[in-house]
Amino acid sequence: MEISNVHAVVTGAARGLGWHFALELLRAGAGVAAGDIDVAGLRKLKLAAEDLPGTLMVSALDVADERAVAAFVDQAWSRLGKLNTLINNAGILRDGLLVRREAGGAGKLPSSQWSKVLEVNLTGPFLMAREFAARVLDEQVREAVIINISSLARAGNPGQANYAASKAGLDAATRTWAQELAPSGIRVAGVAPGVIDTPILEGVSDEALAALKAAIPVGRLGQPREVWLAVKFILECDFFNGRTLEVDGGAVMG
Ligand code: NAD
Repeated sequence: MEISNVHAVVTGAARGLGWHFALELLRAGAGVAAGDIDVAGLRKLKLAAEDLPGTLMVSALDVADERAVAAFVDQAWSRLGKLNTLINNAGILRDGLLVRREAGGAGKLPSSQWSKVLEVNLTGPFLMAREFAARVLDEQVREAVIINISSLARAGNPGQANYAASKAGLDAATRTWAQELAPSGIRVAGVAPGVIDTPILEGVSDEALAALKAAIPVGRLGQPREVWLAVKFILECDFFNGRTLEVDGGAVMG
């Protein structure tokens, strides 16, 4: 697919990787429907994109809310015309150990902390992909792509069982949907970034960040543009399907 022909939904576009994906697409003349729970961030995106050639629509979106997802895809379709790309990028961290020693007895990971991450990182992409793919079929769009943003942590990482499970689950969904949808002209692929310099790292201590860096053979964090290059490759290579590209400087977690 030519990037200039892309009409994309990008979730989690108010900052970080999604923000970069949206701006890169707009720079190439594509259409973008940017959704996020952070409406102030979406307003900033609108300003940042003012002089770019592509068409941008921004709207509040909680990817874990079934009705909101249907309304967003509907709105995007009427504002941008036929969509052919979905970038399932919105994601959150709520790190914690399963149990930990505390003075009064074992502390347990709250189940709300477990479910919230699965709701946003796994159910969200499911709801988005379902709504998007149904519409692509209904409107007989000839070729379309779904890109799921996974993570290096899918292999397992202490303190991140909820996150790792959500991203490993998303990879399983990528492989499954790729097989289900390719005959209908929809490719599905993923990108698994390593540690990338975005605001998601704001809560990570300097000490933890140094340890993360030390585990990256290239000796630095990745930049959002380097993840975009993987997204661009998937969009452009029509034979790429059902796989997840790792962009992690050669790092290994777990
Ligand atoms: P980020 O925190 O900077 O941005 C995430 C965006 O998602 C935010 O704008 C946030 O408001 C939005 N969001 C959160 N919950 C949402 C919801 N329910 N509905 C809609 N939007 C929601 O994070 P990032 O680093 O840009 O990460 C983007 C994706 O890349 C995530 O899926 C993340 O898991 C993945 N990832 C990031 C890294 C990294 O090191 N930055 C590494 C591997 C994977």
